[in-house]
Amino acid sequence: IGPSPHVSVDGPVLIIGSTGFIGRFITDACLDSGRPTYLLIRSGLTSHFKATIINSFQEKGAIILHGSMDDRDLVEKVLRERKIKIVISAVGGKNILDQLILVQAVKAVGTVKRFLASEFGHDIDRADPVEPGLTMYNEKRKVRRAIEKVGIPYTYICCNSIAAWPYHDNTHPADVLPPLDRFHIYGDGTVKAYFVAGTDIGKFTIKSMDDIRTMNKSVHFRPPSNFLNINELASLWEQKIGRTLPRVTITEDDLLHAAREMRIPESIVASFTHDIFIKGCQINFSIEEPEDVDLSSLYPDARFMTIDECFNDFVRNLVENPKPFKQASGNNNGSIIMPPTNQEALV
Ligand code: NDP
Repeated sequence: IGPSPHVSVDGPVLIIGSTGFIGRFITDACLDSGRPTYLLIRSGLTSHFKATIINSFQEKGAIILHGSMDDRDLVEKVLRERKIKIVISAVGGKNILDQLILVQAVKAVGTVKRFLASEFGHDIDRADPVEPGLTMYNEKRKVRRAIEKVGIPYTYICCNSIAAWPYHDNTHPADVLPPLDRFHIYGDGTVKAYFVAGTDIGKFTIKSMDDIRTMNKSVHFRPPSNFLNINELASLWEQKIGRTLPRVTITEDDLLHAAREMRIPESIVASFTHDIFIKGCQINFSIEEPEDVDLSSLYPDARFMTIDECFNDFVRNLVENPKPFKQASGNNNGSIIMPPTNQEALV
């Protein structure tokens, strides 16, 4: 997608949380856009995986700064000295409230033209999950109110679900294959949701972050091509793997029970799954101007990767990397076989 005629903010971007699941997509897209990109990365124990990601970002031109978002003096220094114009936070659920310090730093420096808090999911003022998801949303709401109170220009990215099979006990489903043994269907499987590829979450976050039309608005990702219910998702995956799988109903009570168990993070995901696939939290409201804007109305020519294409990628991975799945099932013939359970995949 080409440059927008509505760009209002030029200058360097600071990304916090770049090594995380969502942060990686955003950082890649920011670097691809050619914007000067600074990454604030916590020092301390660095896994091989994290070191590889950081190296790849550096090779693409990222400037690495070491430190933590809750070190206000450091953040203020970075914002001033590097003349940061846009701050994007993609910190995870455990660190949402740390952003309150970041908000104060951004306010004190006064030169940041757009702030994107760690949202990247539902419209948290409208969605209404049961606990423990509610606690996370209350924290995200606190961050929104803090931003609005101090008057920093903001954009809230409401990108809905990541394109993948929506496991109710796995926080990062795009890292795991869709089922190969049986489908879990939530309720009657007819409540629809929007599924957006991680690369598109990154690409369209970067595209809209400096658009004058997204200032002080919630940007909703609702690609019509990626609007499916879980029955449709299951049928599509069956077409891809060339066979049908049993469908097991997970009832509303099952999801509420999993949420009440308070196993973190699985119970948080169960509460969001209930909100999406039982209560319809992605679709039970309409886009209301002036505070909301639909990304597709901003960029009518924008093309989202379809679920069909995402599932093709999963099949490609399955064919190219059958090893973990061979181990899980003891089957060594390289054909499509039983995957590990979700819990095994989480570890
Ligand atoms: P992760 O836990 O994968 O990554 C969090 C990142 O933030 C890591 O890079 C971590 O660094 C960094 N970080 C945390 N605290 C600090 C700090 N104090 N200073 C600097 N860096 C810090 O997060 P997710 O990608 O899972 O979540 C990001 C957002 O996306 C959340 O708001 C979440 O709700 C949302 N989300 C949406 C999904 C969807 O389907 N729509 C799916 C998943 C998440 P370190 O390596 O040092 O820990």
